[in-house]
Amino acid sequence: MVQILDGKAMALQIKDEIANEVRSLTQAGHRAPHLAAVIVGEDGASKTYVANKEKSSREVGFTSSVYRMPESTTEAQLLETIAFLNNDPDIDGYIVQLPLPKHINEQTIINSISPDKDVDGFTPINIGRMVLGEDCFVPATPMGICTLLKRYGIETAGKHCVVLGRSNIVGTPAANLLSRKGFDCTVTICHSKTQNLKEMCRQADILVVAIGKPEFVTADIVKPGAVVIDVGIHRVEDASKKNGYRVIGDVKHDEVDAQCSWVTPVPGGVGPLTIVSLLENTLKAYRKHESR
Ligand code: NAP
Repeated sequence: MVQILDGKAMALQIKDEIANEVRSLTQAGHRAPHLAAVIVGEDGASKTYVANKEKSSREVGFTSSVYRMPESTTEAQLLETIAFLNNDPDIDGYIVQLPLPKHINEQTIINSISPDKDVDGFTPINIGRMVLGEDCFVPATPMGICTLLKRYGIETAGKHCVVLGRSNIVGTPAANLLSRKGFDCTVTICHSKTQNLKEMCRQADILVVAIGKPEFVTADIVKPGAVVIDVGIHRVEDASKKNGYRVIGDVKHDEVDAQCSWVTPVPGGVGPLTIVSLLENTLKAYRKHESR
C-alpha cells in the first residue's frame, strides 16, 4: 500500500520546533532571527513565493523584511541593495527571488551575496562547501527532499536513486546530497540529452523528479515499490475550482501513486518543506552571527 510523504504536516511540525526556539530566544532577551527578501519586477509567481516566505517567517516569530524593486532596476542598483544587506548586522540571511529581469546578470548578483547570509545556498562558496561535505547552507528544495526522506526513516543506503533534471537549484544538489555519506544512494542523473531515460527510471528505487514538465512521469516508467519524490509545480486551469486553477506536479499521480511504496503529493509534498528549509537555514545563520 502506498504511503504519503506528507510535506504539509511535516512542515507544520518543523515550524513549531523553530517557533519554540525563537520564543525561548526572545523570552531570554535576545533579538529574533531576521530573514529578508529582494524581489525585482512584477512576476506573479515570484510575488506569491515571496509572500509565502514572508508569511512563514512571521509565523515562526522571525523578523521579516521585503525589498521590492521595480522591473527597471539596474544591475548596479541591485548590487547596491545587496551590499547594504551584506553589511546590515541586523539581517541574518536574505534571498534574491529568481528569475531576475533579463537585463540583470543572475550569476553576477548571486556571486555578490555574502556566503554567510546566503540562506538559499546558491553562491559558489556554499555550493563548493556542499560538494566537499563541509558545513554550509544547502539549497532549500533539495534540503527539503532530504528532510522528508530522513524524518520518514526511508531507507536510502545502497538504493539506486534516479534524479530527473540537473538544474543548479534542484536536480544537481539533490543528486549530490543523496550520493553522500548519510544517504549513501547510488545516483544517476538524467537530463534532456539522456538517451534511455525510461529504462533508467524503471531501475530507480528512489525517483526524484525535477524536470519541469507537467505529469511527465507515467506509471509505465516507475518500478513497483519505488519511492517517488515529485518536485514539479504547475498551475493548470480548472473551472471546477474557486480560483480557476489547480496545482499539479511532474508526476501523473492518478496512475503512478498506486504502485509506489512512498510518494510526495502535489501540492503538499516538497513545496512546504522548501519554505521550512529556508527558515532552518536562517536560524542557522542567526546562531552563527550571535556566536561571533
Ligand atoms: P529547470 O531549471 O527547468 O530544469 C529542468 C531540468 O529537467 C533540466 O536539467 C532539463 O535538462 C531537464 N529536462 C527538461 N526536459 C526534459 C526531458 N524531456 N527529458 C529529460 N530531462 C529533461 O527546472 P527546476 O528549476 O529544476 O524545476 C523543476 C520543477 O520543480 C519545476 O516544475 C519547478 O516549478 C519545480 N520547483 C519546485 C520547487 C518546490 O519548492 N517544490 C522548487 C523549485 C522548483 P537540461 O539540463 O538538459 O536542459
